[in-house]
Amino acid sequence: MLGVFGGTFDPVHKGHIQMALSALSCLELDRVHLIPCHRPPHRGKPQLTSEERLYLLSLAVAGHKGLVVDDRELKRSGLSWTVDTLKDLRRELGEHISIVLLMGADAYSSLTRWHYWQELPQLAHIGVFLRPGYALPDEGVLADWLNASSAGDESVINVHSRASGCILALNQPQIELSATDIRQQLALGLIPEGLEPYVRDYIVSKQLYGFDENR
Ligand code: ATP
Repeated sequence: MLGVFGGTFDPVHKGHIQMALSALSCLELDRVHLIPCHRPPHRGKPQLTSEERLYLLSLAVAGHKGLVVDDRELKRSGLSWTVDTLKDLRRELGEHISIVLLMGADAYSSLTRWHYWQELPQLAHIGVFLRPGYALPDEGVLADWLNASSAGDESVINVHSRASGCILALNQPQIELSATDIRQQLALGLIPEGLEPYVRDYIVSKQLYGFDENR
């Protein structure tokens, strides 16, 4: 069973890695693909290029068994829609392999703005991580989707017994980190706590995000 974790990763932080690792263990996944978004449809242009963000991801996953950096969105032209990425994976893996799309509560809450969002559960399960400051939807179709799937151990069994269609809130510790905060700290000349060591060292050495220790 495969986890799919897309994001801008501008830059990847310890929260992303911790989420991918806890999905691996709590959902008993074989691997998690971290897929940087090449052209994000719902936000401004990332500060780093797609290639730089991809490289930072490769530094961040080094030594973490089961975490795979996947550059498929960099190879597609046009906006990077998740529905296209999942269709691409389905073409590769077939109909029967279980796939779970991982995201934070902020992303899940805005899901109805995503391209062809109604098709997502036909292509994958969705695993939602709680995030400080963001509530899960408590009404509407997204709340109904969450309520329709059972909680607890049974959900792990469900996601393994079918290829797609379960929408789960994952009961994992919340992580107080965001790439926005990290970019802001770097721009002030501060070295943020929330970066994996190789990622931090690379950003500092290349003075990315406006980092300047003499500021
Ligand atoms: P930014 O602050 O630039 O928006 P971010 O920290 O939210 O960045 P993204 O790359 O935009 O990181 O997020 C990728 C995915 O990871 C999204 O689904 C987002 O909800 C999720 N995510 C990121 N950080 C957390 C966190 N601390 N807790 C839960 N989910 C998170």
